Amino acid sequence: MPGKTSSSVKPCPICGKPHAYGPAKALQTQSQTPRRIAQTIQGLTTAQLKKRPAPGKWSISEVLHHLADCEIVYGVRTRLMLAERRPSLTPFDQDAWAVNLAYAKGDPKLAFQAFEAARRQNVANLRRISPAAWERTGLHAEYGNLKVIHLIRHLTEHDVSHLAQLAKVKAQIKGSRPAGGAQR
Ligand SMILES: [Zn+2]
Repeated sequence: MPGKTSSSVKPCPICGKPHAYGPAKALQTQSQTPRRIAQTIQGLTTAQLKKRPAPGKWSISEVLHHLADCEIVYGVRTRLMLAERRPSLTPFDQDAWAVNLAYAKGDPKLAFQAFEAARRQNVANLRRISPAAWERTGLHAEYGNLKVIHLIRHLTEHDVSHLAQLAKVKAQIKGSRPAGGAQR
């Protein structure tokens, strides 16, 4: 971003991109995500939510299940890091979870509600921790030493990219609606 001092923003140890979020900004952004998702998917039918935009591409419902499960995984990781001494953080294969947990057959409304509730509590937990606690670490098998702030910055960017994906999928499934098949 032009004009932005990027010298203090180091590359994310998870994805390599610089995420310019401090704790307060990250939590503020994260707290707004459920409402933004609700606005994006408002008015879509269950059939539309479960419609894949292309073969092999996640439907909105599958993205919602992914977000709900990420919130659990990241919630467990941050709790471990905050409560224990340098815990091991188990990697998870998001595509294997989507297939083996049959996200495609799931209820998008339930997934959204689960995400929203877990997110609300995770943000509330992180708003209570001391500034020093953001520096606590865990050991990830793939990414090495990760701090709480690293995870939360990365998760904030994850929100932003999935919100953009949801808007794109929505446009794609609406554009592909069969002629004469008015849904509402
Ligand atoms: Zn990242």
